[in-house]
Amino acid sequence: MTTIYFDNNATTRVADEVYEEMQPYFRDLYGNPSSMHTFGGQVGIKIREARERVARLLGCDPSEIIFTSCGTESDSTAIHGTLAAAPHKRKVITTRVEHPAVLAVCRDLESRGYHVIELGVDKSGRLDLNELERQLDDDTALVTIMAANNETGVIFPIERIAELVTDRGIVFHTDAVQVVGKIPLNLSKSPINLLSLSGHKLHAPKGVGVLYVKKGTRIAPFLLGGHQESGRRAGTENVPGIVGLGQACELAAASLADENTRVKALRDKLEEALLNTCPDSRVNGDPASRLPNTTNISFEYIEGEAILLLLDRHGICASSGSACTSGSLEPSHVLRAMGVPFTAAHGSIRFSLSRYNTEEEVDFTIRKMPEIIHRLRELSPFVQSARR
Ligand code: PLP
Repeated sequence: MTTIYFDNNATTRVADEVYEEMQPYFRDLYGNPSSMHTFGGQVGIKIREARERVARLLGCDPSEIIFTSCGTESDSTAIHGTLAAAPHKRKVITTRVEHPAVLAVCRDLESRGYHVIELGVDKSGRLDLNELERQLDDDTALVTIMAANNETGVIFPIERIAELVTDRGIVFHTDAVQVVGKIPLNLSKSPINLLSLSGHKLHAPKGVGVLYVKKGTRIAPFLLGGHQESGRRAGTENVPGIVGLGQACELAAASLADENTRVKALRDKLEEALLNTCPDSRVNGDPASRLPNTTNISFEYIEGEAILLLLDRHGICASSGSACTSGSLEPSHVLRAMGVPFTAAHGSIRFSLSRYNTEEEVDFTIRKMPEIIHRLRELSPFVQSARR
């Protein structure tokens, strides 16, 4: 059975070109880029080249790129680093729908005496910018709001948000882990101060990420030790990962058009067909402002986990909007924040595509899904009790 991989918001396949480019840096060119000798120096040159390639994709200066180990580290560095640089300020603003890499840090800050505001969203997953504006005050050190949601794909207007926030002299960070490589970004004239990305979401390997720090933004280092990354992030660099990320960024720039045409068309075809062939289904998230690769669909009265298991039997990988915690299926915090009814949130499935998906894969899924939904509905206690 071949695998049909529709879980690209969780992680992506390393591109062949990325894999090739990384190879020499595991075994042959293993020098430390900080060493004085030529053997290390040639590795240092390759890191410089990767930094330039990442900067080109983001439209920023290479000196504004800090390599990290993942999106989570970039988020933690942005938040802790900003607060450490402004110790007199005690307020942080975020949203209820952030990834745990931001939300857990903010909730930890709250338990340590910070004033944390979690902005809500409407039923389409949109933010109220007036509410954000009302919350900005002189005590606010940082606003951290994601660029697009990993579960629903809803895109937030981060340029507009960054303007509102930075006009008040407040630092703005965005977790753009799901956006980089999917929609164009140009930080050259952007007011965004800090931006996180993660290699494994854009066909680079796991274990490498980036924090973009706009020139002039005050941020203290999070990891202390050596002088790597111009003293902004200690620790010997993940050289193969960084080299791979540089190549992945170049490929991403070249495939942005494909992502927003062919991949989007595949996503739309899948979504439309499932809504038409599976009764009591609905899309979660603002269709007008969504990542081109993501659809989150609720199939009422059945459990997402059960759908995933049956999809898995056909070799189809997707993910569900509920997580099994302590024996009960807890609907995702994102769908809860959007007020998605319990029976719909439980049966939500996220399909997230990439440039490696094909029309045949979409057609196969379109054929299999209605029978899966029909079979589970026959077994559903909700449906049985409604029939009685
Ligand atoms: N932020 C968002 C929006 C994500 O989707 C993820 C991963 O799913 C992360 C942060 C964490 O990134 P990483 O896995 O590189 O730590």
